[in-house]
This record gives sequence, C-alpha cells and structure tokens, in this order.
Amino acid sequence: MAQPIRIESKIRLKDFDPEFHEGLGKEETQQETTKLCMRVGELQQRLFANASHAVLIILQGMDTSGKDGTTRRLLEFVNPAGVQVTYFKVPTLEELAHDFLWRIHKAEPRRGNIGVFNRSHYEDVLVVRVLNLQPRKVWGSRFEQINAFEKVLVKNKIIPLKFFLHISREEQKERLQARLRDPTKNWKFDLSDLEMRAHWKEFQAAYEDAINECNSSRAPWHIVPANHKWYRNYIVAQTVVNALEKLKLQWPDPKIDVDRFRIK
Ligand code: AMP
Ligand code: MG
Repeated sequence: MAQPIRIESKIRLKDFDPEFHEGLGKEETQQETTKLCMRVGELQQRLFANASHAVLIILQGMDTSGKDGTTRRLLEFVNPAGVQVTYFKVPTLEELAHDFLWRIHKAEPRRGNIGVFNRSHYEDVLVVRVLNLQPRKVWGSRFEQINAFEKVLVKNKIIPLKFFLHISREEQKERLQARLRDPTKNWKFDLSDLEMRAHWKEFQAAYEDAINECNSSRAPWHIVPANHKWYRNYIVAQTVVNALEKLKLQWPDPKIDVDRFRIK
C-alpha cells in the first residue's frame, strides 16, 4: 500500500506505516541516495554563490528515530562551511526567560546556507505538552505562533522542510537496546529516553496535532517512514534535492565585464 510522504490534508498517524519502503531494494536505494547526496553538495554551492535563499531542514522524531544519522548522510558531500546544524536541548534559564521562538530565530541559517535543526520549536508543543511543563493554554496558543513564524521565514526566503522521522515502538526498543549493548553507543543512552518512551502514546498524539495544526503548502510536513534507515535517508535526500532544484539556481552573473580583464 502506498502512503503519502508530503502531507497535504489532515492525517492520523496510525494510518502511516513506519516499515514502509515502496518495495524498494536496500542496495540499489543506497546507491541512489549517494547520487542524491552528491547532488545536494552541488546545489549547495549554487545556493552559496547566490546567497538568495536558505534551506532549513527541521528534524523531529522520538529518541533513536535517526535525526543524527540523517544529518550525517544527507550532508556527506556538502562543504561544511555552508552548513549550520543546531541542536535544541532542554532550554537554559536564559532561553526560558525569553519567548519560545527566541532561541529558534537566532539559529536561523543565513541565506546561502543549509540549516539543520535537530529538534526545534516543535518541542514547545510536544515535550512541553506531554510532560506538562506548561498549561494547555500556553502550548495551545503556540500552533498559531509557529505558523506565523514559519510564514516570516518563507517570506524572507528561508525555506523550511519539516520531517517527522516515524519509527515504531518496537524499532525504538531495538535501537535503545543497542545503545545499552554496544560500547560505541553507550554514550548515547540517556535515562530520559526511558521516561519519554513511557509516554509513547501521548507523544504520538502530540505529533499528530502538531502536524495537523502546522502544515501548509509553504511549510509542509513530511512523514518519513523511518524503521529502515536506508529508506529514511533516501526520502529525506530526495525531498531536499527537489526543494533545491525548484529554486532553479543559476551561477550568478559576473559583477564586472570579465572579458576586459587579463591576469598578468
Ligand atoms: P537529545 O536530543 O536526545 O539530546 O535530547 C534533548 C532533550 O531536550 C530531549 O529530551 C528534548 O525533549 C528536550 N527538549 C528540547 N527542547 C525542549 C523544550 N523546549 N522544552 C523542554 N525540553 C526540551
Ligand atoms: Mg537523547
């Protein structure tokens, strides 16, 4: 059964299968993804040369859903100078003293760059809601504020691409167990992962609402089936390439008449 990636109407998360992979084969898809990632590298050079737009990749998902792995793969062939990656953790006292979008806005990528948000302003309607860190009145009013903020981004040529990396509860169990078993992954294990996992259902409901409340053609959500890392990477790479291609970026015209100059 096919399922949409780019969301265009109201959804129920239970209709989306985290195992989905279009019946594609792993190896061929990985090769295709490599080509797509190389294309991201080429297109980023044009983006940088023009400095007219920025692309902002927003990665959300439960712990172990692959926010880090996706970033690593997607940007494999990109000049690091043209990339700004930001992690949003539990807010500091300084951040809490400001409005919830303050730290987000500061991390906005400059035009010419690709920005990646590992978590984002969506945490303020997800974890804040599930753990009751703020009353409903506070987080409930944030959907509208997020929509307004994302409109500001788009009007200023910062193009948001929002990805929900959708894994199943069983897949998370496997990945958390690997964090416990594999000495090279022990450092990733965090006790808070278990606390969040205990709230799985509430997080799914919060994600569903965030996707439905904050989806528009200008700032669309993508629900990425993420149980298979290779398919997840393929979908994200394809979406980013399409968004960059849509900008039809040419090499900028020379600022001077280049034929008039000879370098001695
Ligand atoms: P990690 O991304 O696994 O390193 O963990 C970062 C933690 O920070 C996650 O548990 C997030 O839920 C939490 N976090 C991020 N943003 C916020 C926020 N605005 N309020 C509360 N917790 C947050
Ligand atoms: Mg974590």
